[in-house]
Amino acid sequence: METVFSKIIEGTIPAHKVYENERILAFYDIEPAAPVHVLIIPKKFIASMNEVTPEDLPLIAEIHSVAQQLARELGIAESGYRLINNCGPDSGQAVPHLHYHLLGGTKLGALVG
Ligand code: IMP
Repeated sequence: METVFSKIIEGTIPAHKVYENERILAFYDIEPAAPVHVLIIPKKFIASMNEVTPEDLPLIAEIHSVAQQLARELGIAESGYRLINNCGPDSGQAVPHLHYHLLGGTKLGALVG
């Protein structure tokens, strides 16, 4: 499925990339909700968390590893950060291509708890 993220992967629309390998791309969110707001996505099309299969789990693990690395590189590892996936309408998922928000650089408000 073509989405804004598939166009970023193809390079047909620009993005400020902070990480890329054969499987994963990370770039700054165009409407940042925090001083550090990066999106980490698989290059493989997966519409949402609901479509993740057991075969995708190494990819999901690698996304966590990239998030950990980026948190260090972007200077938020010690102060703290949030890694968020929105899935489906109630979450507000706007782009139907699996993505994780890496947010930090400020005291983040409580979502739960
Ligand atoms: P969602 O609500 O979890 O689906 O988040 C989608 C995110 O994509 C939002 O935070 C948007 O600001 C972001 N976004 C949409 N289009 C672009 C773009 O072209 N570049 C970077 N981020 C984008």
